[in-house]
Amino acid sequence: MTGATSAAELESLLMTRSLGDPELLAATDAVADKRTLPDVSVIKVGGQSFVDRGREAVYPLVEEILEARRSHRLLIGTGGGTRARHAYSLAAELGLPTGVLSQVGNAVAGQNARMLGYLMAEHGVPVVAGAGFEALPLHLSEVRAAIFAGMPPYGMWQPLPEEGVIPPYRTDAGCYLVAETYGCKNMIFVKDEDGLYTANPKNDPSATLIPEITVDELIARDLPDVIIERPVLDLMRHARFVRSVQIVNGLKPGNLTRALNGEHVGTIITAGEHA
Ligand code: ADP
Ligand code: MG
Repeated sequence: MTGATSAAELESLLMTRSLGDPELLAATDAVADKRTLPDVSVIKVGGQSFVDRGREAVYPLVEEILEARRSHRLLIGTGGGTRARHAYSLAAELGLPTGVLSQVGNAVAGQNARMLGYLMAEHGVPVVAGAGFEALPLHLSEVRAAIFAGMPPYGMWQPLPEEGVIPPYRTDAGCYLVAETYGCKNMIFVKDEDGLYTANPKNDPSATLIPEITVDELIARDLPDVIIERPVLDLMRHARFVRSVQIVNGLKPGNLTRALNGEHVGTIITAGEHA
């Protein structure tokens, strides 16, 4: 739909139509978007792929993040990882539903956020959650960084997966949605591989790196496994702001900084222009 919708027109549609009405939806789409934190970058620090590697991986990344903070404002989300997977396996074996696994996974991402918080505490970097997000703009202008648990807080309201009981929206999706909601500049996933390969390079030595791909191509290729939660690809298709993400190998010093500076160091996945 083209052209601006007047406030009166929008209000009249919203008051008189169902919220699923196509004309109403098109009218809300016609309003110009507002980015809330356009110069902030969101970094997701992997759980299994990063924090679980311990001090050897985490300390240099913390140093790099603190240094990058001089020229970038950073929101740092955490993954869950091995402890979350262990808890998922227990809960699944007990026959418990997705909503329970979602709550359990959230707790583990919170543990990783708390530990990163202690590592950065002397620099004033806070861990935020829930209502604490309201103070984010202040933290980002005062200390130029904040940490959060990447799991989206669906808890027992987690959308159901097509198969099995593993929560489909986990920490990649949670971090991505934070970036999209605030209209952030960058979404960078810090993991332990150089980017997206044609297959999981840990089990398939013939896998090759895909430096750049569109969301549509990636879905069409129907790869056996991907480095990012698949629901992120669907979210990207509908995003207004964060139409591209980069996955970088954080085990290689300098990669994160280069990605923050707009360099292409890993795999860039793009969704094209917002329709
Ligand atoms: P996180 O720690 O952020 O949750 P994951 O462990 O879920 O990250 O995902 C990263 C892992 O995904 C990599 O360590 C890699 O072994 C695996 N992986 C699966 N498929 C691919 C692929 N096609 N390309 C690269 N890595 C892949
Ligand atoms: Mg993961």
